[in-house]
Amino acid sequence: MNFTTDAIIIGAGPVGLFAVFELGLVDLKAHLVDILDRPGGQCAELYPDKPIYDIPSVPVVTGEDLVKRLVDQIKPFDPVFHLGELVVALEELPEGGFRLTTDQGTVLTAPVVVVSAGPGSFQPKKPPIEGIDAYEGTSVFYAVRKMEAFKGRRIVIAGGGDSALDWTINLQPLASGLALVHHREGFRAAENSVKKMQGLVDAGKMEFIVGKITLLKGQSGRLASVTVEAKDGGEREVPCDVLLPFFGLTMKLGPIAEFGLNLNENRIPVDTEKFESNRRGIFAIGDICYYPGKLKLILSGFHEAALMAQEAFRIARPDQKLKFQHTSSSTSLQKKLGVR
Ligand SMILES: Cc1cc2nc3c(=O)[nH]c(=O)nc-3n(C[C@H](O)[C@H](O)[C@H](O)COP(=O)(O)OP(=O)(O)OC[C@H]3O[C@@H](n4cnc5c(N)ncnc54)[C@H](O)[C@@H]3O)c2cc1C
Repeated sequence: MNFTTDAIIIGAGPVGLFAVFELGLVDLKAHLVDILDRPGGQCAELYPDKPIYDIPSVPVVTGEDLVKRLVDQIKPFDPVFHLGELVVALEELPEGGFRLTTDQGTVLTAPVVVVSAGPGSFQPKKPPIEGIDAYEGTSVFYAVRKMEAFKGRRIVIAGGGDSALDWTINLQPLASGLALVHHREGFRAAENSVKKMQGLVDAGKMEFIVGKITLLKGQSGRLASVTVEAKDGGEREVPCDVLLPFFGLTMKLGPIAEFGLNLNENRIPVDTEKFESNRRGIFAIGDICYYPGKLKLILSGFHEAALMAQEAFRIARPDQKLKFQHTSSSTSLQKKLGVR
């Protein structure tokens, strides 16, 4: 799919989300791209239940609630999310502006690009099973994009965290057979999910196997079975069509390193007036930007977004004049926010 917009935001973490608001106030529309399947970046993925105490005027809020509030706050500006997509390429167009491409084939064109990619994109940790690459994308998947794709399949899920347990519970009714493989009896997942999974095992609807997957068998990228080694060294072959390993995520700067941006230890140096990178029209805000005294705090990212939007306006609307206004008193801003 091809889209043209005013600003493309790489990374839908808290700072990317707030950037939509600041861009919206100056009448710039935004599309956000994130490899994760939901907005929120580190807050949603690394600490959804942890309380945050240093968001101005909000004495305490969890990571998850902060994300919900930000998503609510930007609703009037109708941002377009491209979730579950990795930004893989960014090129400058001869006529001006940029074209960005994702690994899912989405193409976005805009005069402004805002990189709010934190420490980089969340990428799945791969299990160290020999030959796993040959099955990736056909029988081995690190994320579930469409549940329907697994209907009627024999599924093995590996892992003991929330993703492994959540997908076990959600996919079990669709699968023709499901086994969860984890290296120990205990789980890192929510207690409630573990109880639900145990209920399915007790009802004979799925299997829970304690052990480690050591071997994949199949042909031409199609899995036929996985071999599970138990603690006592005994082996068992489990027939399956699909393997879903959920061993957590790591963060990698990834393709952003190839965008021709100056980097300082994997962060993008910016000026503190406009938060622009060394390339005109490409901005960096939030944890990914670097300047003397930078603090990796959500509130710093919010400030950076406000100043970025001012310059983004000058680039996207060169023939218009920017007028500074307060939301508390400007009728036109209140109209944009849908409160008037
Ligand atoms: C445990 C913990 C507790 C914390 N507590 C606090 C606190 O109390 N107060 C506070 O202010 N800060 C706290 N922080 C820091 C805070 O979470 C970060 O400063 C904040 O998340 C930075 O936001 P961001 O939007 O810049 O980046 P992130 O939240 O890192 O989001 C970046 C997003 O970009 C995406 N992305 C990157 N590259 C690509 C690509 N190529 N394609 C697609 N998507 C991409 C990533 O998947 C990610 O979702 C804490 C951090 C941790 C880990």
